Amino acid sequence: MSYRQLLLDFGRSVMRRVQSSPEEFEPRRPRKRLVLDPLLGDFANQLLRANGSRLDVRVFWNPSLKTTAGIAVWQDRIVVLNPKLQEVSAAEVQRTLRHELAHLLAKERAGRRRIEAHGPEWRAACADLEIPGEARCHDLPFKRRKIARRFFYACPACQSILARVRPLRRKSACLKCCRRHNSGRYHERFRFRPVEAPAEAAA
Ligand SMILES: [Zn+2]
Ligand SMILES: [Zn+2]
Repeated sequence: MSYRQLLLDFGRSVMRRVQSSPEEFEPRRPRKRLVLDPLLGDFANQLLRANGSRLDVRVFWNPSLKTTAGIAVWQDRIVVLNPKLQEVSAAEVQRTLRHELAHLLAKERAGRRRIEAHGPEWRAACADLEIPGEARCHDLPFKRRKIARRFFYACPACQSILARVRPLRRKSACLKCCRRHNSGRYHERFRFRPVEAPAEAAA
């Protein structure tokens, strides 16, 4: 081993120590409060077993997540979910759990091979976990309370109404329709169009 190599290795081991200590690395950030969900964890592991996986995952809720629906951490074999999902629906909890599990399952199957986060391996895992055509999106438009929403848009396909506090600045399409008809990808056909406030919202 060369002297240069020694120096490089030393540098890396210092970096690892710094990175594994969040208090040092981000001194002002308070510790995230993770709540273990053993039941959902059991369910997740059963789902994985049924698909030939040998992973042992744990599922956590993290109340400090804002609009991120879920996270999968391969190194720790964990899935972290946003508790606001429970306010949306049980189906949304399931969908997000499976989306994140698909990341772990795809990684396990790939072994040492590097794979794209939302590439073909992930899509195959999604199909096995019964969420075919899953959208590559980790954010949910969580409802904000007590803020009047004054901007309204409609999906030209399903007519569902999007209510917003601020006007849409970027191109934005109906997620439900993009999922159902276009594998979760954006399509102009489902782009939200501005509409008048619906009667119940104007009241
Ligand atoms: Zn994802
Ligand atoms: Zn739609």
